[in-house]
Amino acid sequence: MSGALIEVKELFKYFPIYAGLTSRHVADVRAVDGVSFAIDQGETLGLVGESGSGKTTLGRLLLRLLPATRGEVIFEQQNVLTLKRRELRRLRSAMQIIFQDPFASLNPRMTVGEIIAEPLRIHGLANGKQVDARVRELLELVGLQPYHANRYPHEFSGGQRQRVGIARALAVNPRFVVCDEPVSALDVSIQAQVINLLEDLQAKFKLTYLFIAHDLSVVRHIARRVAVMYVGKIVELADRDALYRNPLHPYTQALLSAIPIPDPVLESRRKRIVLTGDIPSPVNPPSGCRFHTRCPVAFDRCSREEPPLKEYAPGHFAACHWVEEHQGHAPALT
Ligand code: SF4
Repeated sequence: MSGALIEVKELFKYFPIYAGLTSRHVADVRAVDGVSFAIDQGETLGLVGESGSGKTTLGRLLLRLLPATRGEVIFEQQNVLTLKRRELRRLRSAMQIIFQDPFASLNPRMTVGEIIAEPLRIHGLANGKQVDARVRELLELVGLQPYHANRYPHEFSGGQRQRVGIARALAVNPRFVVCDEPVSALDVSIQAQVINLLEDLQAKFKLTYLFIAHDLSVVRHIARRVAVMYVGKIVELADRDALYRNPLHPYTQALLSAIPIPDPVLESRRKRIVLTGDIPSPVNPPSGCRFHTRCPVAFDRCSREEPPLKEYAPGHFAACHWVEEHQGHAPALT
């Protein structure tokens, strides 16, 4: 590790809602609501939360695929959010994204070779015969065969299509990749293969990943640290082992308790924390701690005051009044 490659400071994304004949601004969807973290060079940070937590929006903000409402994203000493068009273009080859649904993200009318060649041409990284050679090289790199270049996306399985998506992202030699639920649409047996491939590529090219997932089991293998998001905010952030061994926030505990244990005896003994109700709307999030409407240990203060993200052990942060009032201990929910 050699320090932070990317640093996110107080990042907000509000989507305005307009209503009426005059299109009056009536409310905002507060998708990302004051988020700060950093990712070290060569690190994988896992970002986990239910759908509607804002994690996908956050991933897109980092790459400026969406404009932020306010905040900073510092990548290699530059604020991505204020870059001019030309600088942004250069940045686009350094920061890439792998999408959740490889079928929807690949143009069905282009061959796989054309899909992988497109970013090479756009960024002027290869021309003529170099393009074909580089496409072949990239296909082999992700475990496909050179002849696959002439095939169309519908001729591939889900896992193979995701390999094409990875090859396209790697074509421009990025240093940072947002992996936006890259295995969620795949069979469990294929998920491990794609995760192993991403790890091999990370080691080979010293890549830095933000790996987004909706459950904690997927990131366990690949992430060095994990951030848990709930209704636009990070509620816990810690080294993977600390988070899985000693989750502080009740929401993290609930997410962990939902991971199936392969041993049937252990599975039958453990208690699952069942959260009541759905994730609240980010249009009008609950006051104070946003989790108070579902939290099994909520008390008075929780609906009044928003808990700050505080460090309770080196590198282990949580946003919870209960934890604060119990000197960094977690409530015993399991
Ligand atoms: Fe639960 Fe209160 Fe902690 Fe929020 S602050 S997680 S409501 S105990």
